[in-house]
Amino acid sequence: MSKQILNIEKLCVSIGDKEILKGLDLQIGEGETHVIMGPNGAGKSTLGNTLMGKEEYEVTSGKIDFYGEDLLEMKTDERAKKGLFMTFQNPIEVPGVRLSEFVRSSCEALGNKMSLWNFKKAAAEQMKVLNMDTAYLDRELNVGFSGGEKKKAEIFQLLMLKPKLAILDETDSGLDVDAVRTVSEGVKAYQEQTHGALLIITHSTKILESLDVDKVHVIYNGKVVAEGDASLIDEINENGFEKYMKE
Ligand code: ADP
Ligand code: MG
Repeated sequence: MSKQILNIEKLCVSIGDKEILKGLDLQIGEGETHVIMGPNGAGKSTLGNTLMGKEEYEVTSGKIDFYGEDLLEMKTDERAKKGLFMTFQNPIEVPGVRLSEFVRSSCEALGNKMSLWNFKKAAAEQMKVLNMDTAYLDRELNVGFSGGEKKKAEIFQLLMLKPKLAILDETDSGLDVDAVRTVSEGVKAYQEQTHGALLIITHSTKILESLDVDKVHVIYNGKVVAEGDASLIDEINENGFEKYMKE
């Protein structure tokens, strides 16, 4: 068994006066790939946002340990420095900031200072994995990027930042088959290059085809209602979530 890096116990999270997560438990070991499935509104994105420390998500009880440290005591940027990373369902556009500037300064903030020459070299290597033209480095972050380009730009960040745990929130939704394959290749490269852990929130299996999945968690109504190995994905694709939505 691999060393446990993330331990979530009895986590309760509210937004305003609405309780969204209601006693959620989840553990991830070093280098493991976990998948979260669940119907819309189950609380999947809430879990990701809470892990990143997004403001409006109030933890009312429970605990989150990351590498043995209390994550809830850390601000968002400290969490990133500890090796947490998340891609968003809707990546924001940042006019005036080039993709290269953004990624290079993010790397530097995480302790990986690179000369421009070395940065460009590393960037070109990773962009090759993603079938991305290096011209994107000079474009403003996400401005005018298509849906697929935004997702690729996020996986590019993943490959450059090399976090210890990456949370991918429906990175594959709305992409055409080729784009999903490319994103999947990028995620696989992250697994191989860094042996980092993954928490993949997804509805589709396409992104998982080339990845080794260690564990699947089904979330409904703010709790984990079922867990299993990769075969659970096929089972859910065949039969849906209904059986887990009783109670
Ligand atoms: P999922 O990602 O599983 O589809 P979410 O975590 O996004 O679900 O949402 C879980 C529930 O929390 C939903 O009922 C949603 O409407 C509610 N919710 C999420 N974000 C907010 C917010 N900022 N304000 C109010 N309610 C929210
Ligand atoms: Mg969501």
